Amino acid sequence: MATTESEANDSEVSMVSMVKCGQCGGSGSLPSLDHEERDREIEDACYHCGNSGMVDEETARNDRRAAFAQRLAVLAVNEEIAACDEDEHGEGWTFRAAEHGLSRSDYTTQAVWAETDRIMDELSKLDERTLDLLVDATEGLALGAALRDRRERSRREEQKTATQTRLDDEPAASSASSIEDEEDICF
Ligand SMILES: [Zn+2]
Repeated sequence: MATTESEANDSEVSMVSMVKCGQCGGSGSLPSLDHEERDREIEDACYHCGNSGMVDEETARNDRRAAFAQRLAVLAVNEEIAACDEDEHGEGWTFRAAEHGLSRSDYTTQAVWAETDRIMDELSKLDERTLDLLVDATEGLALGAALRDRRERSRREEQKTATQTRLDDEPAASSASSIEDEEDICF
């Protein structure tokens, strides 16, 4: 592995090199729904990084692979749902879920987990370099979409606040570092 250590030298972290937790994006907590009031959003501790917002490189690599497998699983399950619902002679996804005693969304979640596991198995047969290339490529696509969203939103914000001149805003650095926050895949 070629060393480009000079890039990481300004980081205070030594010995085990730590990177931002992929689950919470480095914040150490995750938005989740309140158990009693389901439509109220609360902040939950991120168990993955133990609230620190940082994980070691090995964990981070595995997280990225799992996220990649999940992206593929979401696509596959969505296709399965569509095929199931469009089949005139079939029972539909909701019916299938009920047969398993699950709600439609719980059944979908379970299907995505199962498919993610299956894909992870398949990916483990690839050589490391191929796998890293695939993960990098799809992260690039996901990040590109998040960037476009953000740009579009900030453009609208700018139009809204165009007449106001505010110089006491937060420094510009924070806008670039928070892009990764939106990488979550929803299903
Ligand atoms: Zn975390």
